[in-house]
Amino acid sequence: MPETDGRVNILGLTRPAFEALAGRGGHSRALGRLYRRAFAEGRFEPGREAIAKGTAAALAARVALRLPAVERVVEEDGPFGTTAKALLRLDDGQRVECVRIPVARRGPEPGPATLCVSSQVGCRMGCVFCESGRRGYVRDLRPEEIVGQYAAARLTLGWDIGQIVFMGMGEPLDNFEGLAGALAVLLDESGPAFSQDDITVCTIGLPEGIARLRGLGLKRLNLSVSLNAPDEGLRGELMPASRGVGLEALAAVLALYPQRRNFALAVNYCLVPGRNDGPGAEAGVAAFLRAAAPSGRAVLNLIPYNPGSSPIGRAPTEAEIDSFTKRLEAAGALVKLRSPRGRGLMAACGQLGRID
Ligand code: SF4
Repeated sequence: MPETDGRVNILGLTRPAFEALAGRGGHSRALGRLYRRAFAEGRFEPGREAIAKGTAAALAARVALRLPAVERVVEEDGPFGTTAKALLRLDDGQRVECVRIPVARRGPEPGPATLCVSSQVGCRMGCVFCESGRRGYVRDLRPEEIVGQYAAARLTLGWDIGQIVFMGMGEPLDNFEGLAGALAVLLDESGPAFSQDDITVCTIGLPEGIARLRGLGLKRLNLSVSLNAPDEGLRGELMPASRGVGLEALAAVLALYPQRRNFALAVNYCLVPGRNDGPGAEAGVAAFLRAAAPSGRAVLNLIPYNPGSSPIGRAPTEAEIDSFTKRLEAAGALVKLRSPRGRGLMAACGQLGRID
């Protein structure tokens, strides 16, 4: 069981797991209040609840609430609102980043934002367009460190968070235990109480991990896969960890992912002009989308490349984006253009992980 200073961090526990730790003599309603307050108010004070003294003391000795320390926050205004990137320090001094991404709305009031969380310190997937990939893998995050990013965002920074995307540092399916543990807590109705529809797991497409995720039985959890190339050869160049993963095999495992009404499998494509928009690229992409969602819908999220500290190309021009979009649509793909938010902060897609 994960521990901090000898005590288990409540941020990594579901309510049933927390109650099991409290053991006999616990009061379910009071324990429920204690659990809820930890997530809603950032307070964990067993001695102040209507719990037998001995149980409260035992709980305080075994369980603690620990938030990661916020070291720095940088913000950038954009057309949809303010993007903010927070640098958080973990117990062992390692640092991770999470990003508050504004969500475009119709009305004048800003609504809840999306929080992009990290699942590992660094990443071993080595995608050439990504800062985290260049940094290399350091370690997996524990469930309480993933949930801790949400808790710090909400409780320390006061951010209004409505959705979570696992798209920060790390490949979430390469840290399956951490991901599964964090999802269980985030979905706990007595805790953060997210609905599955408001959580998205983004992966480079590890078939085994996708099958394991399906095995969790979370039928409304969103999944998003990075394609980034129309064929396996170029995909392997851009995303070395995808070598050996055939596009057919990947599409087949995706086709088994629960499809439901209003569900669209999100397929991400970071457009690097001159690299992955060559002649015929649209046909390969459209064929993949059809195979990956045979009975449902797949949407191609086209993301203009953000040159990082060691660029592999340049950002596409509007005309290049427009022309590639038209080619994809003519080939039958449903395309959504994702406007980069937080480019100046190194907080846009593929830019997390440059911690300095
Ligand atoms: S894009 Fe994602 S999977 Fe690839 S190196 Fe970066 S963090 Fe890892």
